[in-house]
Amino acid sequence: MSKRILILPGDGIGPEVTGSAIELLSFLQSFFSLDLTFKIEDVGGTAFDKTGYPLPIKTLEEAKKSDAILFGAVGGPQWESLDWDKRPEQALLGLRKELGLFANLRPAFLFNELASASPIKKEIIDNLNILIVRELTGGIYFGEPRGINSSSNPPSAFNTMIYDKNEIERIGRIAFESAMKRNKKLCSVDKANVLEVSKFWREIISNLSKDYPEVELTHQLADNTAMQLVLDPNQFDVIVSSNLFGDILSDIAATLTGSIGMLPSASLNSSSQGMYEPCHGSAPDIAGKNSANPLAMILSLAMAFRYSLNNNQVANIIEESIKNFISKGLRTHDIASDATFLRTDQVAPKLIDIIEEISSAR
Ligand code: NAD
Repeated sequence: MSKRILILPGDGIGPEVTGSAIELLSFLQSFFSLDLTFKIEDVGGTAFDKTGYPLPIKTLEEAKKSDAILFGAVGGPQWESLDWDKRPEQALLGLRKELGLFANLRPAFLFNELASASPIKKEIIDNLNILIVRELTGGIYFGEPRGINSSSNPPSAFNTMIYDKNEIERIGRIAFESAMKRNKKLCSVDKANVLEVSKFWREIISNLSKDYPEVELTHQLADNTAMQLVLDPNQFDVIVSSNLFGDILSDIAATLTGSIGMLPSASLNSSSQGMYEPCHGSAPDIAGKNSANPLAMILSLAMAFRYSLNNNQVANIIEESIKNFISKGLRTHDIASDATFLRTDQVAPKLIDIIEEISSAR
Protein backbone atom coordinates (compact mmCIF):
# COMPACT_ATOMS: atom_id res chain seq x y z
CA MET A 1 0.00 0.00 0.00
CA SER A 2 1.17 3.50 -0.81
CA LYS A 3 2.86 5.24 2.14
CA ARG A 4 1.70 8.74 3.03
CA ILE A 5 4.02 11.54 4.07
CA LEU A 6 2.75 14.83 5.45
CA ILE A 7 5.09 17.80 5.26
CA LEU A 8 4.62 20.65 7.74
CA PRO A 9 7.11 23.42 6.86
CA GLY A 10 6.04 25.81 9.68
CA ASP A 11 7.85 29.06 10.39
CA GLY A 12 11.22 30.79 9.97
CA ILE A 13 13.70 28.50 8.22
CA GLY A 14 11.16 25.64 8.34
CA PRO A 15 9.98 26.20 4.73
CA GLU A 16 13.60 26.49 3.50
CA VAL A 17 14.84 23.25 5.09
CA THR A 18 11.68 21.29 4.23
CA GLY A 19 12.01 22.69 0.68
CA SER A 20 15.34 20.85 0.38
CA ALA A 21 13.80 17.67 1.83
CA ILE A 22 10.90 17.87 -0.67
CA GLU A 23 13.32 18.27 -3.59
CA LEU A 24 15.29 15.22 -2.47
CA LEU A 25 12.11 13.24 -1.76
CA SER A 26 10.72 13.94 -5.25
CA PHE A 27 13.99 12.73 -6.75
CA LEU A 28 14.06 9.58 -4.57
CA GLN A 29 10.45 8.83 -5.43
CA SER A 30 11.14 8.68 -9.16
CA PHE A 31 14.72 7.31 -8.97
CA PHE A 32 13.73 4.34 -6.78
CA SER A 33 10.10 4.10 -8.03
CA LEU A 34 8.82 4.52 -4.48
CA ASP A 35 5.13 3.98 -3.83
CA LEU A 36 4.46 7.04 -1.72
CA THR A 37 2.40 10.21 -1.76
CA PHE A 38 3.09 13.46 0.02
CA LYS A 39 1.07 16.51 1.02
CA ILE A 40 1.97 19.88 2.51
CA GLU A 41 -0.07 21.64 5.23
CA ASP A 42 0.27 24.71 7.47
CA VAL A 43 1.41 24.58 11.07
CA GLY A 44 2.65 26.93 13.80
CA GLY A 45 2.62 30.72 13.51
CA THR A 46 2.02 30.55 9.76
CA ALA A 47 -1.10 28.45 10.36
CA PHE A 48 -2.23 30.82 13.12
CA ASP A 49 -1.97 33.80 10.77
CA LYS A 50 -4.16 32.04 8.20
CA THR A 51 -6.69 30.25 10.42
CA GLY A 52 -6.39 31.51 14.00
CA TYR A 53 -5.03 28.12 15.14
CA PRO A 54 -1.41 26.86 15.32
CA LEU A 55 -2.65 23.32 14.63
CA PRO A 56 -5.68 23.61 12.30
CA ILE A 57 -8.10 20.66 12.26
CA LYS A 58 -7.24 19.93 8.60
CA THR A 59 -3.54 19.63 9.48
CA LEU A 60 -4.30 17.31 12.40
CA GLU A 61 -6.64 15.15 10.29
CA GLU A 62 -3.95 14.81 7.59
CA ALA A 63 -1.36 14.00 10.27
CA LYS A 64 -3.55 11.19 11.62
CA LYS A 65 -3.78 9.66 8.13
CA SER A 66 -0.02 9.81 7.49
CA ASP A 67 2.67 7.21 8.05
CA ALA A 68 5.32 9.86 8.54
CA ILE A 69 5.25 13.59 9.21
CA LEU A 70 8.16 15.84 8.30
CA PHE A 71 8.04 18.82 10.60
CA GLY A 72 10.22 21.88 9.84
CA ALA A 73 10.14 24.24 12.83
CA VAL A 74 7.71 26.62 14.51
CA GLY A 75 7.90 29.87 16.42
CA GLY A 76 9.23 33.36 16.06
CA PRO A 77 9.18 36.75 17.79
CA GLN A 78 5.99 37.89 16.02
CA TRP A 79 3.95 35.21 17.86
CA GLU A 80 5.56 35.47 21.29
CA SER A 81 2.89 37.73 22.79
CA LEU A 82 -0.01 35.40 21.87
CA ASP A 83 -1.97 33.59 24.57
CA TRP A 84 -0.41 30.26 25.53
CA ASP A 85 -2.99 28.15 23.66
CA LYS A 86 -2.41 30.08 20.39
CA ARG A 87 1.40 29.95 20.48
CA PRO A 88 3.10 28.08 17.59
CA GLU A 89 4.68 25.54 20.02
CA GLN A 90 1.18 24.29 20.84
CA ALA A 91 1.16 22.63 17.41
CA LEU A 92 4.09 20.43 18.40
CA LEU A 93 2.59 19.50 21.75
CA GLY A 94 -0.81 18.90 20.12
CA LEU A 95 0.63 16.57 17.47
CA ARG A 96 2.64 14.60 20.07
CA LYS A 97 -0.45 14.21 22.25
CA GLU A 98 -3.00 13.45 19.51
CA LEU A 99 -0.75 10.91 17.79
CA GLY A 100 0.54 9.38 21.05
CA LEU A 101 4.18 10.00 20.07
CA PHE A 102 5.72 8.71 23.29
CA ALA A 103 9.23 7.83 22.12
CA ASN A 104 11.68 10.51 21.10
CA LEU A 105 14.84 9.26 19.39
CA ARG A 106 17.68 11.75 19.12
CA PRO A 107 20.92 10.55 17.60
CA ALA A 108 23.99 12.68 18.31
CA PHE A 109 26.87 11.84 16.02
CA LEU A 110 29.93 13.57 14.76
CA PHE A 111 31.31 13.68 11.27
CA ASN A 112 35.01 13.59 12.17
CA GLU A 113 35.71 16.21 9.48
CA LEU A 114 33.57 18.62 11.53
CA ALA A 115 35.29 17.95 14.86
CA SER A 116 36.66 21.49 14.94
CA ALA A 117 33.05 22.80 15.26
CA SER A 118 32.71 21.00 18.60
CA PRO A 119 33.50 22.81 21.85
CA ILE A 120 35.05 19.54 23.11
CA LYS A 121 38.61 18.29 22.43
CA LYS A 122 38.85 16.21 19.27
CA GLU A 123 40.30 13.13 21.03
CA ILE A 124 37.26 13.03 23.35
CA ILE A 125 34.56 13.28 20.72
CA ASP A 126 36.11 11.51 17.73
CA ASN A 127 33.65 8.92 16.35
CA LEU A 128 30.87 10.12 18.69
CA ASN A 129 27.68 8.18 18.00
CA ILE A 130 25.02 8.17 20.71
CA LEU A 131 21.27 7.59 20.58
CA ILE A 132 19.14 9.22 23.27
CA VAL A 133 15.72 7.67 23.78
CA ARG A 134 13.52 10.07 25.73
CA GLU A 135 10.02 9.38 27.05
CA LEU A 136 7.93 12.18 25.57
CA THR A 137 4.33 12.10 26.75
CA GLY A 138 4.54 11.42 30.49
CA GLY A 139 6.48 12.34 33.61
CA ILE A 140 6.62 15.68 35.32
CA TYR A 141 5.71 17.70 32.20
CA PHE A 142 2.23 16.17 32.14
CA GLY A 143 1.65 14.84 35.69
CA GLU A 144 -1.37 16.04 37.67
CA PRO A 145 -1.93 17.80 40.00
CA ARG A 146 0.04 20.84 38.92
CA GLY A 147 -0.37 24.50 39.61
CA ILE A 148 0.60 27.74 41.26
CA ASN A 149 -0.87 28.39 44.67
CA SER A 150 -0.77 32.18 44.95
CA SER A 151 -3.02 32.31 48.01
CA SER A 152 -0.79 30.10 50.19
CA ASN A 153 1.64 31.79 52.54
CA PRO A 154 4.24 31.97 51.18
CA PRO A 155 2.88 31.43 47.62
CA SER A 156 4.00 28.10 46.14
CA ALA A 157 3.96 26.03 42.96
CA PHE A 158 3.93 22.28 42.33
CA ASN A 159 4.19 19.61 39.63
CA THR A 160 3.80 15.86 39.81
CA MET A 161 6.34 13.35 38.53
CA ILE A 162 4.50 10.12 37.78
CA TYR A 163 5.12 7.07 35.58
CA ASP A 164 3.18 3.83 35.47
CA LYS A 165 4.66 0.42 34.65
CA ASN A 166 3.27 0.38 31.09
CA GLU A 167 4.76 3.76 30.24
CA ILE A 168 8.20 2.69 31.44
CA GLU A 169 8.02 -0.70 29.73
CA ARG A 170 7.04 0.69 26.32
CA ILE A 171 9.87 3.27 26.24
CA GLY A 172 12.23 0.65 27.69
CA ARG A 173 11.43 -1.77 24.85
CA ILE A 174 12.13 0.89 22.21
CA ALA A 175 15.49 1.55 23.90
CA PHE A 176 16.46 -2.15 24.20
CA GLU A 177 15.42 -2.78 20.60
CA SER A 178 17.41 0.23 19.39
CA ALA A 179 20.44 -1.06 21.34
CA MET A 180 20.03 -4.49 19.68
CA LYS A 181 20.42 -2.78 16.27
CA ARG A 182 23.52 -0.87 17.43
CA ASN A 183 26.35 -1.80 19.84
CA LYS A 184 24.08 -3.57 22.36
CA LYS A 185 24.79 -1.20 25.26
CA LEU A 186 22.01 0.59 27.13
CA CYS A 187 22.42 3.11 29.94
CA SER A 188 19.23 3.91 31.84
CA VAL A 189 19.34 7.31 33.53
CA ASP A 190 17.41 8.27 36.66
CA LYS A 191 17.71 9.83 40.11
CA ALA A 192 17.09 6.64 42.08
CA ASN A 193 19.06 8.07 45.02
CA VAL A 194 16.35 10.66 45.73
CA LEU A 195 13.15 9.93 43.75
CA GLU A 196 10.67 7.09 44.25
CA VAL A 197 9.64 7.40 40.59
CA SER A 198 13.27 6.75 39.63
CA LYS A 199 13.57 3.71 41.92
CA PHE A 200 10.46 2.29 40.25
CA TRP A 201 11.84 3.20 36.79
CA ARG A 202 15.10 1.36 37.57
CA GLU A 203 13.24 -1.74 38.79
CA ILE A 204 11.05 -1.94 35.65
CA ILE A 205 13.99 -1.40 33.26
CA SER A 206 16.05 -4.04 35.11
CA ASN A 207 13.18 -6.57 34.85
CA LEU A 208 12.79 -5.80 31.15
CA SER A 209 16.46 -6.53 30.54
CA LYS A 210 15.69 -10.26 31.05
CA ASP A 211 14.03 -10.15 27.60
CA TYR A 212 17.19 -8.70 26.06
CA PRO A 213 20.07 -10.79 27.47
CA GLU A 214 22.47 -9.63 24.74
CA VAL A 215 22.17 -5.99 25.78
CA GLU A 216 24.57 -4.81 28.47
CA LEU A 217 22.42 -2.67 30.80
CA THR A 218 23.86 -0.07 33.16
CA HIS A 219 22.15 2.52 35.36
CA GLN A 220 23.45 6.03 35.96
CA LEU A 221 22.28 9.03 37.97
CA ALA A 222 21.22 11.94 35.77
CA ASP A 223 23.70 14.44 37.25
CA ASN A 224 26.55 12.00 36.63
CA THR A 225 25.36 11.39 33.04
CA ALA A 226 25.39 15.14 32.36
CA MET A 227 29.05 15.14 33.46
CA GLN A 228 29.99 11.89 31.69
CA LEU A 229 28.52 13.15 28.40
CA VAL A 230 31.09 15.93 28.44
CA LEU A 231 34.03 13.97 29.93
CA ASP A 232 33.74 10.67 28.08
CA PRO A 233 30.78 10.57 25.68
CA ASN A 234 32.07 7.54 23.81
CA GLN A 235 31.23 5.29 26.80
CA PHE A 236 27.57 5.54 25.64
CA ASP A 237 25.72 3.70 22.91
CA VAL A 238 22.00 4.12 23.77
CA ILE A 239 20.71 6.19 26.71
CA VAL A 240 17.09 5.89 27.90
CA SER A 241 15.45 8.29 30.30
CA SER A 242 12.32 10.06 31.40
CA ASN A 243 10.90 13.19 29.79
CA LEU A 244 12.64 15.71 32.08
CA PHE A 245 16.11 14.14 32.19
CA GLY A 246 15.96 13.25 28.49
CA ASP A 247 15.16 16.85 27.59
CA ILE A 248 18.29 18.10 29.32
CA LEU A 249 20.63 15.27 28.32
CA SER A 250 19.66 15.34 24.65
CA ASP A 251 20.55 19.04 24.47
CA ILE A 252 23.94 18.36 26.08
CA ALA A 253 24.56 15.55 23.59
CA ALA A 254 23.53 17.81 20.69
CA THR A 255 25.94 20.51 21.84
CA LEU A 256 28.85 18.04 21.75
CA THR A 257 28.64 17.90 17.97
CA GLY A 258 28.88 21.67 17.70
CA SER A 259 26.45 21.94 14.79
CA ILE A 260 22.74 22.11 15.53
CA GLY A 261 22.01 22.16 11.79
CA MET A 262 23.10 18.52 11.52
CA LEU A 263 20.95 16.79 14.15
CA PRO A 264 17.74 14.91 13.31
CA SER A 265 15.07 13.45 15.58
CA ALA A 266 12.14 11.05 15.46
CA SER A 267 9.08 10.79 17.68
CA LEU A 268 7.23 7.49 17.39
CA ASN A 269 4.02 5.91 18.59
CA SER A 270 3.23 2.24 19.13
CA SER A 271 2.18 1.75 15.47
CA SER A 272 5.52 3.11 14.15
CA GLN A 273 3.80 6.23 12.92
CA GLY A 274 6.33 9.01 13.41
CA MET A 275 7.03 12.69 13.33
CA TYR A 276 10.49 13.61 12.07
CA GLU A 277 12.08 16.97 12.73
CA PRO A 278 15.44 18.67 13.01
CA CYS A 279 16.58 19.43 16.57
CA HIS A 280 16.96 23.11 15.77
CA GLY A 281 14.23 25.75 15.92
CA SER A 282 12.94 28.23 13.37
CA ALA A 283 16.13 30.38 13.50
CA PRO A 284 14.42 33.75 12.87
CA ASP A 285 17.86 35.42 12.66
CA ILE A 286 18.64 33.68 9.35
CA ALA A 287 15.11 33.01 8.02
CA GLY A 288 14.58 33.94 4.38
CA LYS A 289 18.32 34.30 3.72
CA ASN A 290 18.80 30.95 1.96
CA SER A 291 21.64 30.19 4.39
CA ALA A 292 20.12 27.55 6.72
CA ASN A 293 21.68 24.10 6.82
CA PRO A 294 18.99 21.63 5.65
CA LEU A 295 20.99 18.49 6.59
CA ALA A 296 19.24 17.95 9.95
CA MET A 297 15.90 17.96 8.08
CA ILE A 298 17.27 15.59 5.43
CA LEU A 299 18.72 13.25 8.09
CA SER A 300 15.24 13.33 9.69
CA LEU A 301 13.85 12.22 6.32
CA ALA A 302 16.32 9.30 6.41
CA MET A 303 14.99 8.38 9.87
CA ALA A 304 11.43 8.48 8.47
CA PHE A 305 12.41 5.95 5.80
CA ARG A 306 14.00 3.73 8.47
CA TYR A 307 11.37 3.84 11.22
CA SER A 308 8.01 4.55 9.55
CA LEU A 309 8.36 3.78 5.84
CA ASN A 310 10.17 0.43 6.21
CA ASN A 311 12.82 1.31 3.68
CA ASN A 312 16.34 0.91 5.09
CA GLN A 313 17.84 1.00 1.61
CA VAL A 314 16.68 4.58 1.02
CA ALA A 315 17.55 5.59 4.61
CA ASN A 316 21.09 4.24 4.12
CA ILE A 317 21.64 5.95 0.79
CA ILE A 318 20.51 9.34 2.15
CA GLU A 319 22.91 8.98 5.10
CA GLU A 320 25.73 7.79 2.84
CA SER A 321 25.21 10.76 0.51
CA ILE A 322 25.52 13.15 3.47
CA LYS A 323 28.76 11.47 4.66
CA ASN A 324 30.04 11.79 1.12
CA PHE A 325 28.94 15.43 0.93
CA ILE A 326 30.92 16.23 4.09
CA SER A 327 33.99 14.23 3.06
CA LYS A 328 34.06 16.02 -0.32
CA GLY A 329 34.51 19.22 1.73
CA LEU A 330 31.06 20.62 0.86
CA ARG A 331 29.77 22.90 3.61
CA THR A 332 26.84 25.14 4.49
CA HIS A 333 27.33 28.51 6.17
CA ASP A 334 27.08 27.23 9.78
CA ILE A 335 29.78 24.56 9.38
CA ALA A 336 32.08 26.31 6.91
CA SER A 337 35.56 27.19 8.11
CA ASP A 338 36.08 29.76 5.36
CA ALA A 339 33.98 31.89 3.00
CA THR A 340 33.21 29.00 0.62
CA PHE A 341 29.82 27.47 1.33
CA LEU A 342 26.62 26.34 -0.34
CA ARG A 343 23.29 28.15 0.01
CA THR A 344 20.33 26.14 1.33
CA ASP A 345 18.86 25.54 -2.12
CA GLN A 346 22.18 24.22 -3.48
CA VAL A 347 22.36 21.31 -1.01
CA ALA A 348 19.66 18.95 -2.35
CA PRO A 349 20.98 19.12 -5.97
CA LYS A 350 24.47 18.13 -4.68
CA LEU A 351 23.01 15.22 -2.70
CA ILE A 352 21.07 14.11 -5.78
CA ASP A 353 24.31 14.09 -7.83
CA ILE A 354 26.04 12.07 -5.11
CA ILE A 355 23.18 9.52 -4.91
CA GLU A 356 23.34 9.09 -8.70
CA GLU A 357 27.13 8.60 -8.46
CA ILE A 358 26.83 6.06 -5.63
CA SER A 359 24.08 4.15 -7.45
CA SER A 360 25.90 4.00 -10.78
CA ALA A 361 29.06 2.73 -9.07
CA ARG A 362 27.13 -0.28 -7.69
P1 NAD B 1 17.18 27.95 16.99
O1 NAD B 1 17.56 26.53 16.95
O2 NAD B 1 16.10 28.39 16.09
O3 NAD B 1 18.48 28.86 16.67
C1 NAD B 1 19.65 28.84 17.49
C2 NAD B 1 20.87 29.31 16.66
O4 NAD B 1 21.23 28.27 15.74
C3 NAD B 1 20.56 30.53 15.80
O5 NAD B 1 21.72 31.33 15.74
C4 NAD B 1 20.28 29.98 14.42
O6 NAD B 1 20.60 30.84 13.36
C5 NAD B 1 21.16 28.73 14.41
N1 NAD B 1 20.56 27.67 13.59
C6 NAD B 1 19.50 26.91 13.92
N2 NAD B 1 19.19 26.04 12.95
C7 NAD B 1 20.10 26.25 11.98
C8 NAD B 1 20.31 25.68 10.69
N3 NAD B 1 19.54 24.67 10.22
N4 NAD B 1 21.32 26.14 9.94
C9 NAD B 1 22.12 27.13 10.39
N5 NAD B 1 21.99 27.71 11.60
C10 NAD B 1 20.98 27.28 12.38
O7 NAD B 1 16.81 28.27 18.51
P2 NAD B 1 16.23 29.62 19.17
O8 NAD B 1 16.88 30.80 18.55
O9 NAD B 1 16.32 29.39 20.62
O10 NAD B 1 14.69 29.63 18.80
C11 NAD B 1 14.13 30.36 17.71
C12 NAD B 1 12.65 30.04 17.62
O11 NAD B 1 12.50 28.65 17.32
C13 NAD B 1 11.88 30.31 18.89
O12 NAD B 1 10.63 30.85 18.55
C14 NAD B 1 11.71 28.93 19.52
O13 NAD B 1 10.55 28.83 20.31
C15 NAD B 1 11.58 28.06 18.27
N6 NAD B 1 11.96 26.64 18.46
C16 NAD B 1 11.21 25.75 17.75
C17 NAD B 1 11.54 24.41 17.83
C18 NAD B 1 10.71 23.45 17.02
O14 NAD B 1 9.96 23.88 16.17
N7 NAD B 1 10.85 22.17 17.22
C19 NAD B 1 12.63 23.98 18.58
C20 NAD B 1 13.40 24.95 19.24
C21 NAD B 1 13.06 26.29 19.17
